[in-house]
Amino acid sequence: MPAVFDIPLTVRFRGTDRRRGMIWRGEAGWAEFSPFEDYSPAECLPWWRAAQEAANLGFPKPVRQTVPVNGIVPAVGPDQAAALVARSGGCRTIKVKVAEPGQTAAQEVNRVAAVRAALGPTGKIRIDANGAWDVDTAVSRIAALNKAAGGLEYAEQPCCSARELAQVRRRGGVPIAADESIRRAADPFLVKRLEAADLVVLKVQPLGGVRACVELAERLGLPVVVSSAVETSIGLAMGVALAAALPRLDFACGLGTGQLLSGDLTADRLVVSDAVLPVRQASPDPRLIRRYAAAPEVERRWRERLDQVRRLAEANGGAS
Ligand SMILES: [Mg+2]
Repeated sequence: MPAVFDIPLTVRFRGTDRRRGMIWRGEAGWAEFSPFEDYSPAECLPWWRAAQEAANLGFPKPVRQTVPVNGIVPAVGPDQAAALVARSGGCRTIKVKVAEPGQTAAQEVNRVAAVRAALGPTGKIRIDANGAWDVDTAVSRIAALNKAAGGLEYAEQPCCSARELAQVRRRGGVPIAADESIRRAADPFLVKRLEAADLVVLKVQPLGGVRACVELAERLGLPVVVSSAVETSIGLAMGVALAAALPRLDFACGLGTGQLLSGDLTADRLVVSDAVLPVRQASPDPRLIRRYAAAPEVERRWRERLDQVRRLAEANGGAS
């Protein structure tokens, strides 16, 4: 029977300070199902397919034994940003969240400058705006942040649509990564047709599983950064499996998100060491499942959610 978890976050993310979801075991291994709480059953469907793959089918054969990862700096002040770089497990690439509602351009510049100071001159800095800017704002903010960083590795999803990404890409000198334009778009191939991005961010749960992502990467023909959806080690292992299976992996992956959760379901957490994660499966510890068990009300809601998604999958002809 699936277990429902509820783990406090160490920093706010998507307007919440909890990470909730479900885990279960199939004959091939453990799966995590943790779509964001505001997602409709239809939006949850690929997350469920990814969990079914992990539980029932397992993962493709890895072509590497470790996966390079980046550190993460959320929309925090400069002191906390510097502290997070120091605690990132030796990561030489840091992703900085920008375009936080209520924050100014100066706060972003200060955060990126603090990351550069903490990282030293040789590390790489990338930014993620989660689609928040219009084209003109994106062009000017990216220019300012590129200067503060002494050169950005890339800017992720500066604007909402693929069309806007293409405009920003043509006007600016910084590589553009597409994230939401791939995983939340009706047509992920629009990014390719419009030449809207230099690389793409792929996430296993929202894109329907490891095999679906490997196939998508092949069809897109662009370099891939594998990222997590802020998961427990069970979900992170699904991302690690994708990063391990891709024929080419030229960028550090966004799988070092374990530090954003105040606890985990595995005793042997997937923790970044020397800027890499090991390629291995993860199994939960029964004591930790109990410790982070959701309150009855939350548990009931998630079980209903899972039922809705299963019914939708059956209606769509998907085997369960
Ligand atoms: Mg992103």
